[in-house]
Amino acid sequence: MLDRAVSDNELNAWDRDHFFHPSTHMAQHARGETPNRIITGAEGVYITDRNGKSSLDAFAGLYCVNVGYGRTKIAEAIAEQAAQLPYYHAYVGHGSQPSITLAKMIIDRAPKGMSRVFFGLSGSDANETNIKLVWYINNVLGRPDKKKIISRWRGYHGSGLMSGSLTGLAAFHNLFDLPKPPILHTEAPYYFRREDRSQSEEQFADHCAAKLEELILAEGPDTIAAFIGEPVLGTGGIVPPPRTYWEKIQAVLSKYDILLIADEVITGFGRLGSMFGSDHYGIKPDLITIAKGLTSAYAPLSGVIVSEKVWRILEKGSDEFGPIGHGWTYSSHPLCAAAGVANLELVDELDLVANAGSVGAYFKQALTDALGAHNHVGEIRGEGLMAAVELVKDRDDRIFFDASEKVGPRVVAAMLENGVIGRAMPQGDIMGFAPPLCLTREEADIVVSAAAKAVKSVLG
Ligand code: PLP
Repeated sequence: MLDRAVSDNELNAWDRDHFFHPSTHMAQHARGETPNRIITGAEGVYITDRNGKSSLDAFAGLYCVNVGYGRTKIAEAIAEQAAQLPYYHAYVGHGSQPSITLAKMIIDRAPKGMSRVFFGLSGSDANETNIKLVWYINNVLGRPDKKKIISRWRGYHGSGLMSGSLTGLAAFHNLFDLPKPPILHTEAPYYFRREDRSQSEEQFADHCAAKLEELILAEGPDTIAAFIGEPVLGTGGIVPPPRTYWEKIQAVLSKYDILLIADEVITGFGRLGSMFGSDHYGIKPDLITIAKGLTSAYAPLSGVIVSEKVWRILEKGSDEFGPIGHGWTYSSHPLCAAAGVANLELVDELDLVANAGSVGAYFKQALTDALGAHNHVGEIRGEGLMAAVELVKDRDDRIFFDASEKVGPRVVAAMLENGVIGRAMPQGDIMGFAPPLCLTREEADIVVSAAAKAVKSVLG
């Protein structure tokens, strides 16, 4: 075990001098101005750092450790697979028992009409695959101009060149020359932040669908290939859709023959209290992006689930043009697939989808009881085990804090002092929660009490 063999001072120095962290203020980290935290172990919903401090992880890492930490069943499945067959590729018809079994398990759980699974390593690469498949399809169908893809402002779809372009958050575009064409963005389905506050949820959903149609008509329907959205906006603020949103959006998409990609990287495998967010909201996607909850992050694995309709076009493509020229060395890596099989079995054995629904409802109610009347709480929202508390300067006039006040990050830092990890969502003052799906009511109470204490300590 890598443990105390390295002194704290050495490890800290190596971290400051050699480790390029993602999504981190590089200069402050290198200068030692911001704290680093080196995690050494975890069990259940708790993680422990090198100083022995334990914290309740109410964000499941990055919305991904759905079965919780310390599941030896998954660890053993990975170890056994490593001993038997650590790797073989999946090109030209090769496979391994875990990857084939996992594909079957995914299709058994997926929304109706899904057919095949292509495996990758991350949500970002799965969305790159989605974009390539959409372009390939329209080339096979003889529609070379139908290539633009519409995403939403505040959507999060990854950090690659094209997946980062699909993302609709400035922090992931700035200085990277993103977004790239042919990616377009339409209105975020963010009811709390709607411009016209007289609108009901249904009217706001009408407005979002009308804005989408306006964009399609302005660009030319024959140029729009696909629309991508998360069933519940994740990194953009943890925002469930306004009532009737998805049925109205889908009506517009089918009118103009536009494919629908449901990005279920967060919502897939139970987080909303349904196996898939698509089933939860009556979404009928052509392609589904999966990652995170597929292995509960015990090993990196993502996938694109392809519908029967899309699969038929792909088959036609290879009959006409030969094998598809797309794949990664590590597509359907046996160790990751073994983790996926054991993980999905655990999700069933522990009844975690139902737990996410029932403890999620309890958690949201408890947050509302504790913080709903606070002067600086504008909205408490959530679905299943995704929840957010949006902090505002003035709740009656819905005036937001200036970003420079860093209210969200300060409150989330105070909550960490109280022993609970949440996430300050990147655009707004939003405390985000996405705990492991095995969270108990008692653990939910601990999160709520730490959150309430943090809000009061920062905002009075
Ligand atoms: N899609 C969604 C909805 C996500 O939340 C994320 C990551 O948070 C991604 C895609 C990108 O996944 P990854 O970070 O594994 O590339």
